[in-house]
Amino acid sequence: MSENVLTLIYLLAAVLFIFGLKMLSKVPTAARGNRISAAGMLLATVATFFALTGGTAISLIWVAVALAIGGLIGLRMATKVEMTAMPQMVALLNGFGGVASLLVACGDYALPATLKAAKSYERYVEGSDVVDASLLLTLEQFAAAIPVPWSSLLATGLAALIGGVTFTGSLIAFGKLQGTKWAPDAPVQFAGQKAIIGVLLAGGLILSVFLAVQPDAWFSLLLIVVMALVLGVLLVIGIGGADMPVVIALLNSYSGIAAAMAGFVLNNYALIITGSLVGASGLILTSIMCKAMNRSLMNVLFGGMGSAVAGGGSAIDGEAKESSPEDAAIVLEAAEQIIIVPGYGMAVAQAQHAVKELAQELEKRGKRVYYAIHPVAGRMPGHMNVLLAEAGVEYDVLLDLEPSNAQLPQSDVALVIGANDVTNPDARTNEQSPLYGMPILDVDMARTVFVIKRSLNPGFAGIQNPLYFLNNTRMVFGDAKKVVTELAGELEGI
Ligand code: NDP
Repeated sequence: MSENVLTLIYLLAAVLFIFGLKMLSKVPTAARGNRISAAGMLLATVATFFALTGGTAISLIWVAVALAIGGLIGLRMATKVEMTAMPQMVALLNGFGGVASLLVACGDYALPATLKAAKSYERYVEGSDVVDASLLLTLEQFAAAIPVPWSSLLATGLAALIGGVTFTGSLIAFGKLQGTKWAPDAPVQFAGQKAIIGVLLAGGLILSVFLAVQPDAWFSLLLIVVMALVLGVLLVIGIGGADMPVVIALLNSYSGIAAAMAGFVLNNYALIITGSLVGASGLILTSIMCKAMNRSLMNVLFGGMGSAVAGGGSAIDGEAKESSPEDAAIVLEAAEQIIIVPGYGMAVAQAQHAVKELAQELEKRGKRVYYAIHPVAGRMPGHMNVLLAEAGVEYDVLLDLEPSNAQLPQSDVALVIGANDVTNPDARTNEQSPLYGMPILDVDMARTVFVIKRSLNPGFAGIQNPLYFLNNTRMVFGDAKKVVTELAGELEGI
């Protein structure tokens, strides 16, 4: 395959990635966008194999075997994983991406110069019009005449550094989310941790520059790898388990940057473009999540939050009023517009199908039913959208934060199902609250608020929610799936 054809195929793959990525930003087109991006990746992978191996029958078999093994493992992982365990799986995949870039960089560095120069040497021989072959340079002479450019060596060091951090950082993130013993959920912080992180990071960068000017200094690459692996552990171990989704978005970005660096090492455009896209989109996602949580990235990385934090909420006056599913059904029957507010508890209880059935029961009775989706409800971006889409809820009744807040004051009932922090009115009014400034769903503006959860216990932020003590709020205690099913049953009986 000629280099021009390969470049054209890479360009086509890049166009598919960009279109796919664009489509991922809207729920109705997301699945198609994913398939389009995957098609781009398949095209780029097969073309690379062809270009490297010359498109022989043997190489075709290699492509088929490699794709089949990787594809089957991916398919099994994706179909087996629970929706609530998706962040762990993404963490693992990021880690694999990071270690792949690290291995590519080290592998390329270790390649004999004659092998690296083989392709350019072929072009040199084909392009020369010298008749006597003995006048041409030998492969060894040719390889010695073209030193590896410093930029490629710098990229080698950076790919190893960022890839290594991504690998061990992602493994720790996986362990924290999976609840393993070797990666405790609580932040592990010790004196001098930030200084060690600083030294390792600066050391890794300095050694990468050193490698660029001293190509034979293989020990620098070795040191970079060791430092990067330790750095990944130290960076993530100090962050609480519940902050892991933000960290995973950041590690996703790192895995993209490492891949782009590996692309510079190999001179592979497809890898540079995909790596840059992943790097940029991961950073944008991290920034969106931090904003929606009203936290700075530095606070997430070094604040040591993210495992239930106590204090900082309002002192609560009064008592929460309890209601039964039966009483709630009577109020719902009299309502015209109902806004369902799902949260992490709905995901834990796997109540999405029961919620859809309840909504159908209400719609049958002529009620307008919407779902208010907060950008950080649940524990991963798009968590609620994915669960509700899985239950077959139509996209046009899912309202983002602003349209939800426009509808809530005109709603008869806000039905909060396992959501807590994203409804906390302290975020609007209490400057002492850790949530102050976070945009929330104004459920307290609805005429009546029913909150379904098991107790008055706090949510992720670890602070009490004054919503539960307001005059227009009624608590319906119990597991979300059980209560919602009972509610639908009561409604049918009215
Ligand atoms: P919260 O974590 O604030 O609250 C969830 C509530 O669900 C808990 O108070 C719990 O109360 C209840 N619950 C748990 N299990 C059940 C069950 N089986 N049945 C009924 N209720 C249950 O969730 P929100 O969705 O409101 O907010 C998300 C929080 O997570 C925000 O603080 C956000 O910043 C944070 N976050 C979100 C990320 C994202 O990407 N979405 C990433 C990282 C953090 P009880 O125990 O009483 O039942």
